[in-house]
Amino acid sequence: LMGQMMHMPLMISSLLAHAAKHNGDIEIVSKRVEGDIHRTTWAEVDLRSRKLAQALDRLGVEPGDRVGTLAWNGYRHLEIYYGVSGSQRVCHTINPRLFPQQVAWIANDAQDKVIFVDLNIFPLVEKLAPSLPSLKHVVLMCDRSNMPRESALPSLLCYEDLLAAEDGRYTWPTFDENTAASICYTSGTTGNPKGAVYSHRSTVLHAYAAALPDAMGVSSADTVLPVVPMFHVNAWGLPYSAALIGCRLVFPGHHLDGGSLYDLFEKERVTFSAGVPTIWLGLINHVKQHNLTFSTFKRTVIGGSACPPAMIKTLQDDFGVEVIHAWGMTELSPLGTLSRLKAKHADLPKEDKEKILAKQGKGIYGIDMRIVDAEGKELPWDGKAAGDLEVRGHWVVSGYFNIDKSPLHEGWFPTGDVATIDPDGYMQITDRSKDVIKSGGEWISSIDLENVLMAHPAVHEAAAIACAHPKWDERPLMVVVKKPGAEVAKEELIAFFKGKIPNWQTPDDIVFVEEIPHTATGKISKLQLRDRFKEHKLP
Ligand code: ADP
Repeated sequence: LMGQMMHMPLMISSLLAHAAKHNGDIEIVSKRVEGDIHRTTWAEVDLRSRKLAQALDRLGVEPGDRVGTLAWNGYRHLEIYYGVSGSQRVCHTINPRLFPQQVAWIANDAQDKVIFVDLNIFPLVEKLAPSLPSLKHVVLMCDRSNMPRESALPSLLCYEDLLAAEDGRYTWPTFDENTAASICYTSGTTGNPKGAVYSHRSTVLHAYAAALPDAMGVSSADTVLPVVPMFHVNAWGLPYSAALIGCRLVFPGHHLDGGSLYDLFEKERVTFSAGVPTIWLGLINHVKQHNLTFSTFKRTVIGGSACPPAMIKTLQDDFGVEVIHAWGMTELSPLGTLSRLKAKHADLPKEDKEKILAKQGKGIYGIDMRIVDAEGKELPWDGKAAGDLEVRGHWVVSGYFNIDKSPLHEGWFPTGDVATIDPDGYMQITDRSKDVIKSGGEWISSIDLENVLMAHPAVHEAAAIACAHPKWDERPLMVVVKKPGAEVAKEELIAFFKGKIPNWQTPDDIVFVEEIPHTATGKISKLQLRDRFKEHKLP
């Protein structure tokens, strides 16, 4: 017997259509590149996204064609997300912080036919355009008055002019839900970046799961400010989940320093946010230095790299902001696990709750996971055995764009992360397998070492890397940035490890630097650090 329910393909456009119909008056606020605050609504975003789809028709952009974006978080970028995917083209967000040659490589690999670009990123596109043979149109995301008088690009288009020429009488088409909707490239810390091609189905399912109470837990009563850029794995799916639940959205544009963010959080009464740990370092410092408090901000998702327990504690205890620690990857659209307490944890002492919340968390429905040893044998969920983390699920890649070889291992996607899973299903990342420090055949977790120093009052940021050692192969070296005005000696920091980790794991040396290098997505660049300290002599 077959079920007798309607079959409606899961279309990204249906998220926006729902938002427009049921929450059409809810506001989308954007701090623009132009410098001002812009206000629109879900209904208006829907109308303008349909106009954009018409404009793409007029430009001769075919179904399946890739449409690139080089843009910050804002309402026009949101319209492009929906206008492009909703009309069966493929939205390809590119990280403008990558090296120019990487941007060109990615745009060429994806064969972007059109690129939409924000005003202050335009010089990059102007420079790269001659090396992008598939590129037919460049659209500057502004109105006529902000268009440059002269440009090296002969047929530069103006976003607002394109929309003004259309009437918006456009019905979102329905097609196979497995059709490609968007592409994001991994950052390619080793080798070339690889394209993960998301489908309409995977995106809608991910948006559903991400919004659930035990995941991000966002509702229509929230005002959500995605600090995570829309070019970093589609802002972790928030632009889709936000439409599904119909919440108010606040976009910060490129204004991501602590002071600008704080002002926006307060003025726009933001309740919920999401971003990588580095961005919160800046915001927390600003708030502490100026003795400020948050009046509406209640919860935030932190992920992308391990969130130090000290950061979770500061946000919770000093500012009343609940941290939801999350783990994910580009290949997972990106959400895999989030750390929320179970009912049975309610009466645990505060420190025990903090330990659970510092883990990367439980798999959400839609993501299945396992840990395996070097021979591929499954390891127990005892919270002790550490192995290679593998996942499978509705929004996990089965392959990469333009690459024939399957990345899968027995139908599972190997994440490249090493993890433990406890009997309650909480996964904890020990390290990326390439960052783990191998000392005399034993493994030392760089994350564990960083977490200890991040709790020291004089430390702003800390990174642990492997340093060559004649006897032990590798030993831990820590690279530390002090807080402004703080004084501390390396002996004091080394002594700070006592009792917090097994003695033999204590770092052999500590070096102080002015700044730790970060990747284009704001993660500590261990690759650059290892390179910089490859000749370092341990004491
Ligand atoms: P990349 O940095 O490779 O482009 P992603 O942004 O997809 O790509 O990064 C995914 C990786 O980031 C994961 O495999 C993991 O190593 C790391 N990561 C993400 N979230 C966390 C977290 N909460 N704790 C520790 N590591 C994390």
